[in-house]
Amino acid sequence: IRTELQNAEKLKVISELTSVFAHEIRNPMQVARGFLQLLNDPDLPKGKKEYIQISLEELDRANEIINDFLAFGKPVNNISERIDVGYQLHRVVKIIQGYSLNHNVQIKTEILEDGWIHANAQKLNQSLINIVKNAIESMPNGGMVWISSTSTDDGFIRISIKDQGIGMTKEQMDRLGYPFYSLKESGTGLGMMVSYQIIRSFKGKIQVKSEKDIGTEFIIFLPKINGSS
Ligand code: ADP
Ligand code: MG
Repeated sequence: IRTELQNAEKLKVISELTSVFAHEIRNPMQVARGFLQLLNDPDLPKGKKEYIQISLEELDRANEIINDFLAFGKPVNNISERIDVGYQLHRVVKIIQGYSLNHNVQIKTEILEDGWIHANAQKLNQSLINIVKNAIESMPNGGMVWISSTSTDDGFIRISIKDQGIGMTKEQMDRLGYPFYSLKESGTGLGMMVSYQIIRSFKGKIQVKSEKDIGTEFIIFLPKINGSS
């Protein structure tokens, strides 16, 4: 408990620092990006165009890292309301569609309509996007991601996000949700921590089933409330 508190305190400091730095760093990055685009003349020799392209991509990557850090810096809002999980899942799929197509990944859905929970929509989506993003990234050669939701007899909405990716060992699964744990070359190791925190804040639970080289399934249980009106 003690170290958990210390960690929470550390994270709070990190998050405060990050949001200050992020804004200060983003502005000069935007300026640099703008001028690089101006330099990117169609008549330039191929080699030089390539340098500019790489510079632009690296700037975008830096921006993504900042976004990941910001994710736990500033909660967007704290409104908790009745939300339809099915509706939010459809939104998540729409948001992530471009990313999945770029990775040769098809998303198949089987989504329950009319499953209501009490939560913050923006945060729920953020946590789901992090999990779906990882599912996509687990398949370097593309593949399929299944997203489904059902209603359980004991009062939960059950969401499953399943991939056919590289999978995880038991040790790797145990480390999920801890900050800065990443096996990716340019990963931040913050996505799962954010997702776990969000799901817990809704009094939900996360289960992970994974097999090395077979795939992974994240199962989320969120307490159901009465539908309509
Ligand atoms: P990041 O994606 O930046 O690495 P995350 O916190 O989102 O950080 O994930 C932490 C690590 O958990 C990943 O680097 C990866 O090793 C592992 N992981 C998460 N989801 C999956 C998945 N669906 N399949 C395989 N490994 C996963
Ligand atoms: Mg991730």
